[in-house]
Amino acid sequence: MPQRTALYPGTFDPMTLGHLDIMKRASRLCDKLIVGVAINRDKNPLFPLDERVAMVEHVVEPFRDYIDVEVKPFEGLLIHFVEKCGASMIVRGLRAVSDFEYEFQMAGMNDRLNPDIETVFLMADPQYQTIASRLVKEIARLGGDVTQFVTPEVELRLKEKFA
Ligand code: ADP
Repeated sequence: MPQRTALYPGTFDPMTLGHLDIMKRASRLCDKLIVGVAINRDKNPLFPLDERVAMVEHVVEPFRDYIDVEVKPFEGLLIHFVEKCGASMIVRGLRAVSDFEYEFQMAGMNDRLNPDIETVFLMADPQYQTIASRLVKEIARLGGDVTQFVTPEVELRLKEKFA
């Protein structure tokens, strides 16, 4: 049987427990999981690319016991990156209705660009539903406690950023 490769793309600025939950669940749906860290210059990320990659690398380490995982930075059109990786599916997390319209449009456009690649949506777990990287950064910047939203390693990096 051919290997089923899934790509989970995102900015991960920073990686949250919501992202981690999607990675864990996606890893059960494929033989190989690639986490694509978007360079996303226009989003003006707080964390440089190497740190965003390092945060993901850190959490996927235990997955390596049961699945092939790679963390890869990427730039440019997502569908080109998916093709380059040899992935057959794109995984995205869906939170409340606010994510829907954008994700629906993006999945539709990607399907037009390459109908052989399927976008798979995983509903956010209710306990992580409200976690958004943007708000985590805002809370950390204002000196709030982010322990329930991110891993201890990410929390430390946020503290260093806003020290
Ligand atoms: P992007 O810039 O591609 O939206 P993000 O890092 O913000 O990158 O998000 C990557 C993916 O993870 C998106 O599909 C997003 O909907 C999903 N996601 C973000 N936060 C959560 C969460 N708390 N629970 C589930 N999915 C999430």
